[in-house]
Amino acid sequence: MEKILVVEDEPDLLMGLQDNLEIEGYQVTTAKDGQAALDLAMSTCPDLILLDIMLPKLNGFEVCKQLRQKGMDTPIIMLTAKSQEVDRVLGLELGADDYITKPFSIRELLARIKAVLRRRHAPPQQIETYQFGDVKIDFRKSVATKAGRPVELSHYEAGILRLLVTNKGEPIARNRILDEVWGYELYPTTRTIDNHVVKLRQKLEDDPHNPAHILTVHGMGYKFVD
Ligand code: CA
Repeated sequence: MEKILVVEDEPDLLMGLQDNLEIEGYQVTTAKDGQAALDLAMSTCPDLILLDIMLPKLNGFEVCKQLRQKGMDTPIIMLTAKSQEVDRVLGLELGADDYITKPFSIRELLARIKAVLRRRHAPPQQIETYQFGDVKIDFRKSVATKAGRPVELSHYEAGILRLLVTNKGEPIARNRILDEVWGYELYPTTRTIDNHVVKLRQKLEDDPHNPAHILTVHGMGYKFVD
């Protein structure tokens, strides 16, 4: 069940939102001022926050800003009382994901909530095949060919290569490779990544000691160039 924190100081609106969201199957917690919102957001880690702007103690902009400063990336939909563009722009600049202008229909709000949650859960677009020089890679099967000859890639080798190719030209830190390729199961050392990259170069580069595609970014990680 997805958890939504609703922050609103107007009691009738708060109660109406809570009822409607619970009917939709969400688990709802509520806060009536900005300070309580901050505390609850940090302690309950909701999946989404509906955040009014005009609130006692801390306003919604301030709550949004502080949550983002604390590194919390929970989606936030701001509830704005005015249709003034400055409110919307400021909210989005401070890290809100969307906004909805009062008065709004519950149906519209539910649609926004679903859209924001869906965006949050959507897996990033993944490259399935790629070709550079005389190398062709099929990431779905973790296989490649070099000059027409088949090359076996291990699960982790294919994962590293896919991450680098997806972010072509961009330096990728070793820690990000750990997060995205190894996930949270096993945590190998960054040295493990280096060993996998050595093997990738042996399999795919013309001269593994002077790589032309899988490059080292000193003190940081790796990047891929065509
Ligand atoms: Ca208010």
